Amino acid sequence: MVGFGPADLGSNPSRATSRIRNFINRFRFEDTMAIQNIAVLGAGQMGNGITQVAAAAGYNVTMIDIQQEYVDKGLATIERSLGKLVSKERMSQEDADATLARISLSTDRADCADCDLVVEAVPEIVDLKTSIFAELDSICKPETILASNTSSISISTIADATNRPDKVIGMHFMNPVPIMKLVEVINGDKTSTETNAAVIEASEKMGKIALSCNDSPGFVSNRILCPMLNEAILTLQEGVAEPEAIDGIMKLGMNHPIGPLALSDLIGLDTVLHIMNVLYEGLKQEKYAPAPLLIQMVEEGKLGRKTGQGFYSY
Ligand code: NAD
Repeated sequence: MVGFGPADLGSNPSRATSRIRNFINRFRFEDTMAIQNIAVLGAGQMGNGITQVAAAAGYNVTMIDIQQEYVDKGLATIERSLGKLVSKERMSQEDADATLARISLSTDRADCADCDLVVEAVPEIVDLKTSIFAELDSICKPETILASNTSSISISTIADATNRPDKVIGMHFMNPVPIMKLVEVINGDKTSTETNAAVIEASEKMGKIALSCNDSPGFVSNRILCPMLNEAILTLQEGVAEPEAIDGIMKLGMNHPIGPLALSDLIGLDTVLHIMNVLYEGLKQEKYAPAPLLIQMVEEGKLGRKTGQGFYSY
């Protein structure tokens, strides 16, 4: 899910960051499991970003999708992204080349077998995720940590599809992955402290700030973000203001980097609706009911940037 950057950590981001690190360190074990080889399942929007930051951090990464054209497309996105970093002098050509050299492509999930960590980033469909986790459990060595980048599906439900629920965890990267600093780490009801510590360590090695929470509908990020997006859509539906005014008020007035309607278009209105449904069904409160305009736009195929039409035209 798209989120906000470190500027939102308060008036002094570095002090806030160090307070957060100290908090995390209290729960850290001295000897975390050493992660060297990572597999990323799914080469889409999130999967290729996760592959890029993991490879840039020095991990050997196998990026896996169901068809060669999807992994090729994912790799082309990574090449473009690294090219931009080099042209802005934020990465040397040598480091970009070394990052690419650490990435292998595959269409065979059996290539996860010897990895220390698998990060799953396939579409947000419960049955797909549970069947993939059951398969990973049978393919991977016993020590492998199985992480999901799900935005809203219960980590405990995913973990129950395996015989290693202590090694299953949520590793929720934000979009766009190379830019956004946060990884929301979600502990299922059986996730071990060792698994949590290993994933925090790996996230930090990838240059991220990892913050933990417990499994609950929408976790922290989407439980707070999506009702705000939904409220902006209700505000539009009720004719309170035009989209540009709603977004401008939230950007200028609240110092948000992007307005809620533009952000909904970026995330995808189908995804926002899906998460609102998870909150509504999971928390059983009327305040989480998805806005009728959101439902209508999804039915009309106006999903935001990915279809060229949402609250704005692209
Ligand atoms: P996407 O559609 O861009 O990519 C998903 C990829 O998974 C596709 O390339 C698809 O071919 C591949 N895939 C499907 N089945 C597979 C299988 N069995 N094995 C391997 N690959 C398979 O989706 P995305 O936006 O990258 O989202 C992926 C996950 O990340 C979802 O759970 C989503 O909720 C979560 N997420 C998305 C965002 C966001 O803003 N898009 C942010 C945070 C988390």
